[in-house]
Amino acid sequence: MLEQSPGDYRYGDVREQAVGPGQVRVRVVASALNHMDLWLALGMPKPPLLPMVPGCDAAGVVAEVGEGVSGWAVGDEVVVNPSLACGHCPECLAGRSVYCASWGILGEHQWGSHGESVVVGEANLVRRPEGHTWEECGAYGLCGLTAYRMLRRARLVAGEDLLVAGAGGGVATAALALGLRMGATVYVTSRHEAKRARALTLGAAGAFPSGEKIPVKCDVVVDNSGEPTWASSFGALKKGGRLAVCGGTGGGRVDLHLPRLFFGHYELIGSTMGTFSEFDELTRLVAGGLPVVVDSTYPLGEYPVALARLRAGEQFGKLVLRH
Ligand SMILES: [Zn+2]
Repeated sequence: MLEQSPGDYRYGDVREQAVGPGQVRVRVVASALNHMDLWLALGMPKPPLLPMVPGCDAAGVVAEVGEGVSGWAVGDEVVVNPSLACGHCPECLAGRSVYCASWGILGEHQWGSHGESVVVGEANLVRRPEGHTWEECGAYGLCGLTAYRMLRRARLVAGEDLLVAGAGGGVATAALALGLRMGATVYVTSRHEAKRARALTLGAAGAFPSGEKIPVKCDVVVDNSGEPTWASSFGALKKGGRLAVCGGTGGGRVDLHLPRLFFGHYELIGSTMGTFSEFDELTRLVAGGLPVVVDSTYPLGEYPVALARLRAGEQFGKLVLRH
């Protein structure tokens, strides 16, 4: 838990959350780390309540259902969708929950999944996809959803060329797998030779050092590193190319030369998380064999060790806690 922000996480007991009407308690079996875990400890953003239990992603078993819950029963094996929304405003009813005024992320706006159990609304659960380990099921949520919506918004279609900046990060690894599944030719960048080599074994057609001129031009570029990779990502666009951005883990301010933007007929697309139907579609892709790359697994009590690996950017794929 986090007792102050900025601050350090401490392993300990918190009061058990009550299960309200329409809510479900899930006993967490596996949860995954995200950059959100690091941001909260830095106070960027400060969580709205303290102490704060971090954790955006989880897979587990339904342990308690609240009044009025009809779709779930104790013992069901589920994956948690980390998107929060009210569910009844015009945007939610139109299937655009990412525009909901109450939009939020589990583990940022309410207690998250790095605990024995997590309480979420029944709409935030999907049935656990078959054929995947608990670790994989607990790992694909936030990054997979973000990558999926980003590629959909960038209108990637089969036969196009896709560049994914920063291979090895959670969103980048999901974008590589999704891009291949969508029929694109996928290139990656990384500053680590070992990560470039790993991406090639996962199906990338080419892997280039970060920050250098990219020797290919692509229809779609996805970048969540921001400042360190911006110039090379921008320079890798074909005429009419789409650059999709969902984060700035390496720095949030970039230079944009407007004549290059309009002479190139480029599109810049901001995107974050995804809708409930996009989470369902992603889960169907996972059930259908979409690979989920887990870098390493730690016991829950070794959260600080996993956090240090995330902070150092050493991972390829997701860091997962086993509860
Ligand atoms: Zn809403």
